[in-house]
Amino acid sequence: MTDPRPVRVRMAPSPTGYFHLGSARTALFNWLYARHTGGKFILRIEDTDRTRYMPDSLQDIMDSLHWLGLDWDEGPVVGGPYGPYFQSERLALYHEWAERLLAAGLAYRCYCTEARLEALREEQRARKEPIIGYDRHCRTLTAVQRAELAAAGAASVIRFAMPLEGETCFTDLLRKIKPFDNNQYRDPILVKSDGFPTYHFANVIDDHFMEITHILRGDEWLSSVPLHVNLYNALGWEIPVFAHLPLILDPGGVGKLSKRKKKGEGDEDLLTYIREYREAGYLPEAMFNFLAIMGWAYSADTDLFSRAQAIARFDIVDINPAAGALPLSKLQWMNGHYIRSLAPADLMERLLPFLAKTLGQPVEALRAHPALPVLVPLIQERLKTLDEAASLIDFAFVEALEYDPQMLVAKGLTPAQSLAALTAARTLLATLPFTEEGLDAPLRNLADQFGVKVGQLFGILRVAITGKQVAPPLFGSMIALGREKTLARCLRAEELLRSL
Ligand code: GLU
Repeated sequence: MTDPRPVRVRMAPSPTGYFHLGSARTALFNWLYARHTGGKFILRIEDTDRTRYMPDSLQDIMDSLHWLGLDWDEGPVVGGPYGPYFQSERLALYHEWAERLLAAGLAYRCYCTEARLEALREEQRARKEPIIGYDRHCRTLTAVQRAELAAAGAASVIRFAMPLEGETCFTDLLRKIKPFDNNQYRDPILVKSDGFPTYHFANVIDDHFMEITHILRGDEWLSSVPLHVNLYNALGWEIPVFAHLPLILDPGGVGKLSKRKKKGEGDEDLLTYIREYREAGYLPEAMFNFLAIMGWAYSADTDLFSRAQAIARFDIVDINPAAGALPLSKLQWMNGHYIRSLAPADLMERLLPFLAKTLGQPVEALRAHPALPVLVPLIQERLKTLDEAASLIDFAFVEALEYDPQMLVAKGLTPAQSLAALTAARTLLATLPFTEEGLDAPLRNLADQFGVKVGQLFGILRVAITGKQVAPPLFGSMIALGREKTLARCLRAEELLRSL
């Protein structure tokens, strides 16, 4: 299926909630296709459902796209020749085309009240029939009846006059579509009584006037396509190319990724919103890569690839239409990879907001702190997420450490033996140069002379200096802390050991 027009794809979120993982994947595939083909990626805000509108949703959508590096060529903020890009600002266009459909007899005003529609549903329920929807009551009103209702000021909606029989089929680049029975589309509403269009109507009109060539979206919209196709036909417009993307499943493949699931309900569970990944310390590079392998593969040999590589190779027809699941551990692994490949100065910059939040200290103060450039390279290897850093290196940024004094007693030694070893180490530390080479051999020799294991001595020192049994490498930690603080912390630990 080749389309001679330049590629124009769109992401059309409704501002009803935070930007979801699945929406991000849809945005990414659209963006990749636009960048691969040299086409345009459009962001259109489908804000016609006033009841579900959430005020900070738009900002969250845009922040999430920015964070992922998915820039849009046309849309909010940047504008563009096909605007406005908010559906709420395009009402006149929808009304104009609704009027044309009315005039052509392809749509009609429906005056049925909510009470009548509810009674209808109730009747269908009572007869134990499947709810088939609207009975098309107003489709056959006479001109006189219509005029009377209009004169009486009765509220109305505009409905589409779907073909009463037959089937509608369409092509999808990713899957074989079985024809849909037209009778199941019970004259859907195009314009609501508040004057706002429904999703279906506004979506079709905008895709046409924004000259969208390819529609890539979640497969939950598949069953709406026959209606859209009939609308395109009624309006006499060209039908875009469709590609409905597979569902993202929860790991284990047991169900749909819920929009409501809470963080941390299971180790492997994916988080729901892009903001949650950002707050948990995932890098946008890793997130981009992870989203890209949700239904697409760069190659059989590797899951790791750059943005440029993905752009060069991406094509819609290579998307796997089967619903899939990836565990969070896969993203953690990827994130570790991307963290390790950062220059330490870059990693430090990215860690600052996380450290500032956990340590309760201003970013500027932390950026100027001499310990940070020493510590960051020491933890770079072991970080899976940015938010893990604070608990590893907080010892260097607090005045006093809180820890259980029992931790100072090395396994296999008594408190007195631990105290003696620590005192000797402190005395030696007062004389040693604070560099890796300066500390390494003398401290190891000291352990030998004392008849304790290196691991025992280093363990005592680690707790004295960091308050933890698991911390960054010992000498680096001491160097980061500096001689004065290191000695003071040893003295304090000696006091604690004496009190045991
Ligand atoms: N506004 C719809 C949504 O929020 C857009 C669906 C589509 O891409 O057509 O998912």
